[in-house]
Amino acid sequence: MPRPISALIHTDALAHNLKRARQAAPQAKAWAVVKANAYGHGVARAYAGLQGADGFALLDIAEAQILRDLGWRGPILLLEGCFDARDLEACSRLDLWHTVHCEAQIDWLAAHKTNRPQTVFLKMNSGMNRLGFTPAAYRGAWLRLSGLTQVESITLMTHFANADITSDGPIGIVGQREVFEATTAELPGARSLSNSAATLNFTDEAVAADWVRPGILLYGSSPDFPAHSIHDWALQPTMTLRCELIATQDLKAGDCVGYGSAFTAPQAMRIGVAACGYADGYPRVAPTGTPVLVNGVRTRLVGRVSMDMVTVDLSAVADASVGSEVTLWGCSPHGAVLPIDEVAHAAGTVGYELMCALAQRVPVLLV
Ligand SMILES: *Cc1c(COP(=O)(O)O)cnc(C)c1O
Repeated sequence: MPRPISALIHTDALAHNLKRARQAAPQAKAWAVVKANAYGHGVARAYAGLQGADGFALLDIAEAQILRDLGWRGPILLLEGCFDARDLEACSRLDLWHTVHCEAQIDWLAAHKTNRPQTVFLKMNSGMNRLGFTPAAYRGAWLRLSGLTQVESITLMTHFANADITSDGPIGIVGQREVFEATTAELPGARSLSNSAATLNFTDEAVAADWVRPGILLYGSSPDFPAHSIHDWALQPTMTLRCELIATQDLKAGDCVGYGSAFTAPQAMRIGVAACGYADGYPRVAPTGTPVLVNGVRTRLVGRVSMDMVTVDLSAVADASVGSEVTLWGCSPHGAVLPIDEVAHAAGTVGYELMCALAQRVPVLLV
C-alpha cells in the first residue's frame, strides 16, 4: 500500500471562489493568477476549476505553454514580463501578454522582429519599490512604448504593498492609489491595480478598474487573515491535505513525545501518530497547539513535526485508532473544515507558503 497521505484539489471550490471575486468586482475582468504552479495546486488542475476567468496570469513561459496545450485560447499575462530578449519569441508564438517594468524590457521590444504587435502591461512602482517605473519615469516609458510598432496596446498597472489592511507600513492603499491616478490621469488605456486583498476590501470601481488580479482568494485562503477568515469572505478551501493515523501511544504523566522531547504529557493521555511530516510540505515550525482534525474532531499537534510524521492529541477523540483520518488542512470527510490560514497562523506564516510548499511526493487527486 502507498503511504496513507494525499492532497485533494476541490474543483467546485475554485469555481466558487472565482465567482466571489467577480461579485466583489462586477465591472472588472478577472485574471486568475496561477503563478507558482497555481499556488501549489497544479496549473492543469486549477484550470479545471478556473476556466471561467477572463485570463490567466503567471510568471513562467512553461506554465503558459501548459495552458495553451490544454486549449486555452484567451489572454495569458506574464506578471514579471520577459527575463531575456529571447522570451519575446515565446510571447509572439504563444500570444502572451507581458508586463514591462524596466527599460531593458523596452530595449528588447524595440529590437524584436515580429509581425504580431504585442499587448503589454506597463507597471508603475507606486511605492512598493519592487518592480516598475517610478511615477517620474512612467510617462516617458509609456511614450517610448507607444512609439514602437511592436506594441499594440498598453494597459496601466500597479501593485499594492498593503492591501491587506492588517499589515502596517507607511504607505497605504490610499496613498499608492493617489500616486497611480495622478500619474496616469492623462494617459489612455485600461487599468489594473487589485490583488485579492484589494479586490475584497476595496470594492469601488476605480480600484477594481478594468482588470482585477486575484490569486490567493481563488485558493480558499483569506488575504487578510486573521482580520477576516474565509468564512467571513464566503470562500471555500480548494486544497485538503489528509492522511491517517499509523500508530497510537498511551502516555503516562511526565512522558515526552518526539525529537527534543518538546512535549511532556501533563497527565495520562493518548496520542496518535499521523503519516505527514515536513517532507510532505507540512511546516516543521508548527508548534504544539497547532490545530488538526482527527475523525472530523478538532484537536492539536503535540511535540515537534518530524520528516514523515506528526503527533496529535487524542484526548478529545476517544474513537480514534490506526487508520483514522487526519485532516491537516482543508475539508474532513466528516464535514468539518480547518482553514489553511489557521494552520499557517499557528506556524507563523501565511496560507500562500503552505499551499505552495506541498511536496512532490504527496499524491494529488482532483475531486
Ligand atoms: C501574485 C500577484 C497577484 C496576486 O496576489 P494575491 O495576493 O495572491 O491575490 C496579483 N498581482 C501581481 C502582480 C502578482 O504578482
